[in-house]
Amino acid sequence: MPARRASAARHGRSDPITAGGFALVDTLQAVDVPLASAQRSAPDAPLIEIRGLRREYQSGDDTIAALKDVDLTIAAGEMVAIVGASGSGKSTLMNILGCLDRPTSGSYRIAGRETAQLGPDELAELRREHFGFIFQRYHLMSELTALGNVEIPAVYAGLPRAERQTRAARLLDRLGMADRVHHRPGQLSGGQQQRVSIARALMNGGEIVLADEPTGALDSRSGEEMLRILDELNAEGTTVIIVTHDASVAARAQRIIELRDGEIISDRRNATPARPSAAPRLGGAGTPSTPWRAAVGRFREAFRMASFAMRAHGLRTFLTMLGIVIGIAAVVCMVALGEGSRQKVLANISSLGTNTLEVFPGLNFGDTRSGRIRTLVVADADALAQQPYVAAVTPTVSTTRSLRYRSTEANGMVNGVGDRYFDVKGTKLLEGRLFDADSVKRIAQDVVIDETARDALFADDPGKSPIGEVILVGNVPSRIIGLVQKQQGGFGSSANPSVYLPYSTVQARFLGTTALRSITVRVADDTPTDLALAAVTQLLIQRHGTKDFFILNTDDIRKTITQTTEILAMLIASIAVISLVVGGIGVMNIMLVSVSERVNEIGVRMAVGARRSDILQQFLIEAVLVCLIGGVLGIALALGFGAVFAMLETPFTLIYSTASIIAAVVCSTLIGVIFGYLPAHNASLLDPVVALARD
Ligand code: ADP
Ligand code: MG
Repeated sequence: MPARRASAARHGRSDPITAGGFALVDTLQAVDVPLASAQRSAPDAPLIEIRGLRREYQSGDDTIAALKDVDLTIAAGEMVAIVGASGSGKSTLMNILGCLDRPTSGSYRIAGRETAQLGPDELAELRREHFGFIFQRYHLMSELTALGNVEIPAVYAGLPRAERQTRAARLLDRLGMADRVHHRPGQLSGGQQQRVSIARALMNGGEIVLADEPTGALDSRSGEEMLRILDELNAEGTTVIIVTHDASVAARAQRIIELRDGEIISDRRNATPARPSAAPRLGGAGTPSTPWRAAVGRFREAFRMASFAMRAHGLRTFLTMLGIVIGIAAVVCMVALGEGSRQKVLANISSLGTNTLEVFPGLNFGDTRSGRIRTLVVADADALAQQPYVAAVTPTVSTTRSLRYRSTEANGMVNGVGDRYFDVKGTKLLEGRLFDADSVKRIAQDVVIDETARDALFADDPGKSPIGEVILVGNVPSRIIGLVQKQQGGFGSSANPSVYLPYSTVQARFLGTTALRSITVRVADDTPTDLALAAVTQLLIQRHGTKDFFILNTDDIRKTITQTTEILAMLIASIAVISLVVGGIGVMNIMLVSVSERVNEIGVRMAVGARRSDILQQFLIEAVLVCLIGGVLGIALALGFGAVFAMLETPFTLIYSTASIIAAVVCSTLIGVIFGYLPAHNASLLDPVVALARD
């Protein structure tokens, strides 16, 4: 690179004005490395070359030409002032020069490279590598310190963090801001803020500094200081282009270009002898880290900005988050509740016994006439017992009577059952014995009671064994021979005390009829239930001459109950999901507000070289953070609910699964991405000029 060596040599000879003992640009030279763009440029191409440039604005139905056929060439190292009346097109020209805006037609070459066909990210790269912007109103980010503001361009250029900070601190030091490095813009005067913005412009090398009315908002002393710094930079080789309407400012430039109504009406050299122009200093500053590490650096910046934004509007963030918290908590709780009831129901239906058919009189469940149908009799049960596909049969009858032991009385279910009943139902004997076929034949007054009945009748003496005691069932004295566990649920389950007597006893002593309430058939293990069902139906129709009974199949019941529970659980969960979607819409809404509030910041970031993806990333991270934190809080809330429910001993059981919790976290992240995408995408599509102009 002969051009570079020449530049260094000339720098050695020239006697740059110094600030604090060091030349600004010399300081930077230490870390100055040529970039690809420098090698791409044609050897003798002027730094800036504009031909036939036109910029039109659409205003309603009219087209306003802000620039009309502008031809302009600016060499490296020049200091140019662009002057003209308000509305003459100065800012428009400046924005096009800085690649913030594109011409409607015409050609713009930077160091020989045509910009017309470049995409938004390539223009961002040009801005990063070649330009530094100084705005009239500084455009610093209020959440960041002076140092943080200066660092930003290097973040997007991919400079390693340590190098970035050293360089930013050194720049601020040279600009006399060493003791203000950690101040925020709000704590700085206008002149100091403008110096921070100069440092920011120089961060990536500052080959071309573009200043739009840089002294416009400053008092005269700060303005003078500002111009001195620009002079100094120019002396060190930086190309400086200043837009101004102040003649005294323009007078300091070597070249003054005057615009009127979008046309250049004069382009003159100043009377003061121009300084020998320095050679072009193409390229940025510092060694960019590897692409991967640079991406991590940009992610960290985006993350930091997202958390700043969240903290800046704490209440708003919290309220938005609340939507997600409630949604996630609802989903997790509902899924847990669904799982809890499913397991409860499963436990219940397992107590229905294995593979049984239950024959009832009547046409179907709830047939009001079934009580009058008396055709289902013990002989049917005996006939069924003969069938090869039947493992066991028990007839049942039932009634309610009062139970009495000494002075203790309770109402109870009196079940008249066959000796195989406990076998068929799978009921467990806890104490004593069960009655046998002989008890049925004898119409024995032997009674088996369940735990509930024991608790009710022997409450006075809980430790005592009830076996051998005599109780009154209705007014029939019966001897307790066994204690069984209470029926766990399903059909015939009851919270009432239940006692079991031989069905013959119940028929003879209580009902005075031979009709049965039901016959329960346990199907042989090797017979499919539906075959047995068909066979039992056929047999009973044959015996009765008509179908005056119906058969419940526990398998079907099990399936129906399971299905119903699952449908219910899904229904509840889908309502919870709706609340989650509502939360997501809240996030989207607030993100749209957040983006519109920070349009200006987005513009500044784009001006210093942020890619569209950088902007997208920043807002997407914000949305995901809100949702993720909301999700974690939601899970905590759901677990809290579970603990409270457990303490209250409600009939609900909440069973949390790790899967549902992981799903909730994934879900909340997805909501952030899905509902944050639109606002973030909108932000990334903003036109930098439009964004910068917005207040
Ligand atoms: P200056 O900076 O010299 O005051 P500008 O470059 O801002 O002038 O504007 C030049 C002309 O273009 C003006 O007539 C202005 O009204 C018009 N103009 C600038 N920006 C827009 C825009 N975004 N939409 C429509 N017209 C615009
Ligand atoms: Mg202007």
